[in-house]
Amino acid sequence: MHSYLTHLECTRCHETHSADELHTTCPSCNKVLYARYDLDACRDAFSRDDLLGREGGMWRWSEIMPVRDAANVVSLGEGHTPLLHAEALGRRHAASRLYIKEEGLNPTGSFKARGLSAAVSRAKELGVRAAAIPSAGNAASALAAYGARAGMDVHVYMPADTPDMMKREAAAYGAHVHLVDGLIDAAGRHVRERAAVEGWFDVSTLKEPYRVEGKKTMGLELAEQFAWALPDAVLYPTGGGTGIVGMWKAFDELETLGWISSERPKMISVQADGCAPIVRAFEAGDDEAEPWEDAQTVAPGIRVPAAIADYLILAAIRESGGTALTVSDGEILDAIRTLAQVEGLFAAPEGAATYAAYAKLLDAGFLSPDERVVLFNTGSGLKTPDLI
Ligand SMILES: *Cc1c(COP(=O)(O)O)cnc(C)c1O
Ligand SMILES: [Zn+2]
Repeated sequence: MHSYLTHLECTRCHETHSADELHTTCPSCNKVLYARYDLDACRDAFSRDDLLGREGGMWRWSEIMPVRDAANVVSLGEGHTPLLHAEALGRRHAASRLYIKEEGLNPTGSFKARGLSAAVSRAKELGVRAAAIPSAGNAASALAAYGARAGMDVHVYMPADTPDMMKREAAAYGAHVHLVDGLIDAAGRHVRERAAVEGWFDVSTLKEPYRVEGKKTMGLELAEQFAWALPDAVLYPTGGGTGIVGMWKAFDELETLGWISSERPKMISVQADGCAPIVRAFEAGDDEAEPWEDAQTVAPGIRVPAAIADYLILAAIRESGGTALTVSDGEILDAIRTLAQVEGLFAAPEGAATYAAYAKLLDAGFLSPDERVVLFNTGSGLKTPDLI
């Protein structure tokens, strides 16, 4: 295992920082830091064929992952999820090239496992003993699981009305579960206050540089699973936006390695009509998003009123020729039933939202039935069984 990690770079002011000390956000401007790799050296040493003999999973991409010593990798078998051809669902729309990336099969039942496997591994490598996270539910149980495996002390802060399963799950892994009044932004304020006092490492979405490195592996897998030709469009339920910006980063890295062309999928951000800060900013032509007031939706993972990476999400959507749109809770619930009954897939409400959005985009003519489209089912419906 050899990582080509070189340094951290601020996505806003472009200042560089050492990758071998602990960082959260940019010390100068407080925006998102990205891990950077020596991709020129990597290009000469790492080829697509090297992947073939490797064990499956997220860590087979070690050259462009941030952990230096394999002994520090904390893994539960995350990643390498199926790309399912949704033939029956597609037939309903005369579409023969509709696919679902099934992230519900990850450890702890959601794609949060990818991000937290990467963040906990790198934190372990840099000497972290205790970590804290604000979460709408799935990030909490993922940090709790990977933290347990790494022997770390874990504190999770969740809205009091988080689905019961997620609270119980985090507690089962031995995490300290703190419930707060308000939403994930309120939970984030508690974490910042307590972490500073207690010396916990804060692994809030995109406020440390490595969760996004785990999420980017969804983009790497898409490229490989489509034989190095990316799809026409990707629909992604957007909360903090780690997945959308992570995949966008992955595509750039793959192009620099010479593994894919400069063509990109339309990146399409799906939000709930009760919490749609990114959609509102996209429609207004803004580069940043105002926080959403009184956020409400049945899909906890996208009940995120403000995202630190708003400028990165909006840039990826625009540069890709994508769009952003909302769906209602009623449409989400209908989509959960349809996916379950037509494809045998019990999706998380966030994942089901992408199917509702797909149908709308076909109706509106933004997408055509002959385009190759990937819906992201980001989690398992088993976490929120009482929704339907
Ligand atoms: C967290 C979460 C999301 C939103 O993911 P981001 O990458 O933060 O935008 C979507 N779906 C599920 C199931 C989640 O847990
Ligand atoms: Zn900066």
